Amino acid sequence: MTEHATGFVDVVFSVPVEGPFTYAVPAGMTCPVGVRVVAPFGRRTLTGFVVAVRDTPSRSDIRDIQRVIDAIPLFADEQIDLAAWISRLYLCSTGEALSAMLPGGRREKEPILAGLADDPGSDITIDLSDEQSHAISQICTERDGRFYVDGVTGSGKTEVFLRAAEHTLAEGRSVVYLVPEIALTHQLEALVRRRFENQVAILHSRLTPSERLSQWQRLRSGEARFALGARSAVFAPVRDPGLFIVDEEHEGSYKSGSTPRYHARQVAMYRARRHGARLIFGSATPSVEAMQLMTQGTPPHFHRLRLTRRLAGGAPPAISIIDLKDSKAILSPQLRTAIRETHSAGRQTILFLNRRGFSHFFHCRSCGYQMTCRRCSVGMTYHKSRNRMICHYCGYNTQPMHVCPECGSLDVGYGGFGTEQVEDDVRSHFPDLRVARLDTDVVAKKHVLKEVLDSFHAGDYDLLLGTQMVAKGLNFPKVGLVGIVLADVGLSMPDFRAAERTFSLITQVAGRAGRYLPDGVVLVQTYHPQHSAVKAAVQGDSEGWYRAELIERKLLGFPPFSRLIRIVFRGKKADKVRQDAEAFAREAERAVGSDAEMLGPSECPLSIINGSYRRHILFRTRTFDKTHHRVGVLLSNVPASPTVYREVDVDPVALL
Ligand code: ADP
Ligand code: ZN
Ligand code: ZN
Repeated sequence: MTEHATGFVDVVFSVPVEGPFTYAVPAGMTCPVGVRVVAPFGRRTLTGFVVAVRDTPSRSDIRDIQRVIDAIPLFADEQIDLAAWISRLYLCSTGEALSAMLPGGRREKEPILAGLADDPGSDITIDLSDEQSHAISQICTERDGRFYVDGVTGSGKTEVFLRAAEHTLAEGRSVVYLVPEIALTHQLEALVRRRFENQVAILHSRLTPSERLSQWQRLRSGEARFALGARSAVFAPVRDPGLFIVDEEHEGSYKSGSTPRYHARQVAMYRARRHGARLIFGSATPSVEAMQLMTQGTPPHFHRLRLTRRLAGGAPPAISIIDLKDSKAILSPQLRTAIRETHSAGRQTILFLNRRGFSHFFHCRSCGYQMTCRRCSVGMTYHKSRNRMICHYCGYNTQPMHVCPECGSLDVGYGGFGTEQVEDDVRSHFPDLRVARLDTDVVAKKHVLKEVLDSFHAGDYDLLLGTQMVAKGLNFPKVGLVGIVLADVGLSMPDFRAAERTFSLITQVAGRAGRYLPDGVVLVQTYHPQHSAVKAAVQGDSEGWYRAELIERKLLGFPPFSRLIRIVFRGKKADKVRQDAEAFAREAERAVGSDAEMLGPSECPLSIINGSYRRHILFRTRTFDKTHHRVGVLLSNVPASPTVYREVDVDPVALL
């Protein structure tokens, strides 16, 4: 410790050890709460966050702060409190939580394009519909109410959000507006900027860390009072928050995929409650959990504000199911006929498939061998254009095979299909059509997406096919046909939310498709035409589907009728991973007792990723607070092997 220390500070680091750790502040250095500092930590030198200033050290062997990074603090007490809450709920350290909140502090591992895009249109003065007016007046009369704008696509949800924002700003309070993926919402961004001008700060992944930092500071200082952004914008340090909006509430991308595995929806609920702010969720396909909060009287209750009328584009399009069992081809005869007729009528077609690549898997017809990634356990996908087998989890790629490596048989082949093969099929059936494909393989650069969509809009293509990325084209005026090539991708995933995802995918695609084409057609190809999720989505029977799904969840004891805590053990040494998981389970069995059901330890469905073996334990409980507390205690008391990493996921959305 320096002899010239002018004071002491408590610092936390982005490591899985709670802390805080006390350091001396050398003379001449200013180290207020909320700045980042560089300090020695064990044998390393790390960046940490100052969370408290103290006059006396806690021990004598104290080391010095080496350097202060920020001239102005990044965090106020509010954010430090928020980090402490994140750390308690998601069982991470306060330093890890602060690091996740920090703009540009860590690269977000976001899918290039996750959500479905929307077209907010131009902002000519709008006469509100009765439903919109009702929703807005409900929201504005309660300063701290919770609302769910449950409205079909095109019913004008955005306008409701923006009016609520106007009202909140006029009260002198601030607004946080979350969207699933900011890259897909250029139009919303433009609309918000036009309406709210320099009060807006936009937080997105295209900004450099220093740009993000400057947006962050504009919000902290109160210069900007409207924060728009994706998941991590839920931490936006706005002054006096008065409204949190979570648009497309059902989207999985609101859940963080790395420590802390927070859900922006849950964080927004917490912040809104803490600040007495309004909270608005919105979607055409609410999550099953949210539907439960709206329809059951149990707290925290949400007022359901329904928007049932489409303001743009008239009635929804006609949707029909095509059973793929009757068809040998990817493009069924009905779909092919429809493509031809649409083209003859001078209109465009969109084909949607939520799976890229050429074929889904490689297998041997003699012995059943399936080619899987040697670093992950998942099947490899054949990409014809590169003539490689590629793992979509880790990117590992290898040569395609012509002989089975297990039994030497030549009777090997590919099953399933991806966007690339659909493209091949379309081109061979329709050589005269101008075809464009959009998926992450094609859209390595972001401007490609915009170029292709602009050209499609201008009529330079007859058919557009691809993954979610084509969603933006769904409401273009000349589109006459939308084909969902395979609605049940993922339906067989070992995940209790698989049906929910299928339901919401079909509903969203069909809803968006109908914007401008009351005479348009949506064709849904599926191997499971009788599946309740497929049927309900096609028939537009949302109410029925949610009712049935809630009954099923209740019977099976899944959320929202229970809560889950998942612990994944991963490491390069399979036996260590197994030992750790089993040792933890033994302790847990005793500690958690009858309050929770413990499933596992077992191999994760994705049992190897990138060379790491994965096992998991799942706790399922109806007394969350008790179980959560006990699991937290176990995590600090049961030691982990140095080579085994534990991932803690409270309220997991995926169990793979
Ligand atoms: P949602 O988010 O519910 O799918 P949007 O908010 O994107 O729907 O609205 C769909 C379209 O309807 C937009 O182009 C929007 O400008 C327009 N719109 C919104 N409110 C009205 C209204 N009251 N009258 C006419 N058009 C409206
Ligand atoms: Zn074989
Ligand atoms: Zn892999």
